[in-house]
Amino acid sequence: MDFALSDEQQLLVGTIRRFVDAELLPLEDEIEREGRLAPAKAKEIFEKSHALGFYAMNIPEQYGGGGLSAIDTMLVEEQFGRTKDILIRRAFGNVYESLLECTDAQKTRWLLPAVKGERTCSIAITEPGAGSDAAAITTRAVRDGDGWRLTGGKHFISDGEFSDFFIVSAVTDPAARPRHVSLFLVDKGMPGFKVGRDQPMMGLTGTSHLEIVFDDVPLTGEHLLGKEGGGLRLAYETLGRVRLAQVGARAVGKATRLLTLMTDYANERKQFGKAIGEFQMIQEMIADSVIEISAARLMLLRAAWEIDQGRDARAWISMVKIDAAETLGRVADRAVQVFGGMGYCEEMPVARLYRDARIYRIFDGTSEIHRTVVAKSALKSGAALWDIGA
Ligand SMILES: Cc1cc2nc3c(=O)[nH]c(=O)nc-3n(C[C@H](O)[C@H](O)[C@H](O)COP(=O)(O)OP(=O)(O)OC[C@H]3O[C@@H](n4cnc5c(N)ncnc54)[C@H](O)[C@@H]3O)c2cc1C
Repeated sequence: MDFALSDEQQLLVGTIRRFVDAELLPLEDEIEREGRLAPAKAKEIFEKSHALGFYAMNIPEQYGGGGLSAIDTMLVEEQFGRTKDILIRRAFGNVYESLLECTDAQKTRWLLPAVKGERTCSIAITEPGAGSDAAAITTRAVRDGDGWRLTGGKHFISDGEFSDFFIVSAVTDPAARPRHVSLFLVDKGMPGFKVGRDQPMMGLTGTSHLEIVFDDVPLTGEHLLGKEGGGLRLAYETLGRVRLAQVGARAVGKATRLLTLMTDYANERKQFGKAIGEFQMIQEMIADSVIEISAARLMLLRAAWEIDQGRDARAWISMVKIDAAETLGRVADRAVQVFGGMGYCEEMPVARLYRDARIYRIFDGTSEIHRTVVAKSALKSGAALWDIGA
């Protein structure tokens, strides 16, 4: 078992780390102050990142992406996770792997422009009445000749304001449960597509979270992603690696940044004539954070290894989703404590990282839902979950 990064991996991770430090972290204060990322800045970081080949690195090279393995994806996503969601989206893209299910004609219209950064995409599954229970959606796609008419609505759609198109779940045949849901590619601006309000959030400043409404949107066969009735399965299969990257790896990256802020401050800040890092209760908070981040990171890489081996990684992905998100929450809480009153000050990065950290236990499936996945898997296969073939 070799834990060392290859020369290529070191080069990749080091280059991304320097890009995040030099180009993205300096933009954070302005986003918090202004509530948005200025369009000119968004364009600038996209162009710089794109020129360096950092955009859409998770997508296979044959479609113009970076073609990274799952392990390499997690290594770079950890670095992305050190900065704000909005900056990650603009600089590195948010190209959902579900788009790889596109037919050739669909690839030209949706996948390839997304990989080039010409069009951006959000995923629109959650509805006011259906969150954890994604099968309970009421958005309907009713057959109309060769196509469908789409009616209903979604909410909390991340980055919806900026997105050009959406992967939307809709019920195509209520009687066909559990194959009653299909996914559709829906362009903003289609007749009947309406943008609702941007739901203000307690963190993630700069990112929009939109309500969207479909008022009899006409869809043709070209809008169907994957098979009719295969929507829940497709979402389940293709969003796992995305979840591991965008929640698991980014949570580890964010926790690592908080740990660095914590240790730097503990070394600098003096009380009672010594650095606070010399006090055992501060050391305990640092030690616990180091241990928990290291454990989460190992689990993350193991889950990615499972994916690269072509094995069923769903339970591993859920374990990481839970552990990395909860680790981040504990580390963020300790970081505020180590900073004392300064940790509660709005202008300090720890304060906003604390607020941003809270969502990791909720979006992309709550900790409770992912615990049900882990428990079901363990009850079904027992120790086979950890079997590595020996
Ligand atoms: C900032 C943000 C960004 C988001 N981005 C997107 C996006 O881009 N696209 C999208 O489609 N959605 C998005 N979401 C939605 C997100 O995925 C859902 O909020 C999440 O899945 C939980 O659904 P819910 O909010 O309806 O909570 P509910 O499902 O109503 O859950 C409420 C509580 O009940 C618990 N619960 C529910 N069922 C069970 C169960 N069976 N066992 C035990 N406990 C249970 C939950 O764990 C939770 O604690 C976003 C949400 C937020 C807040």
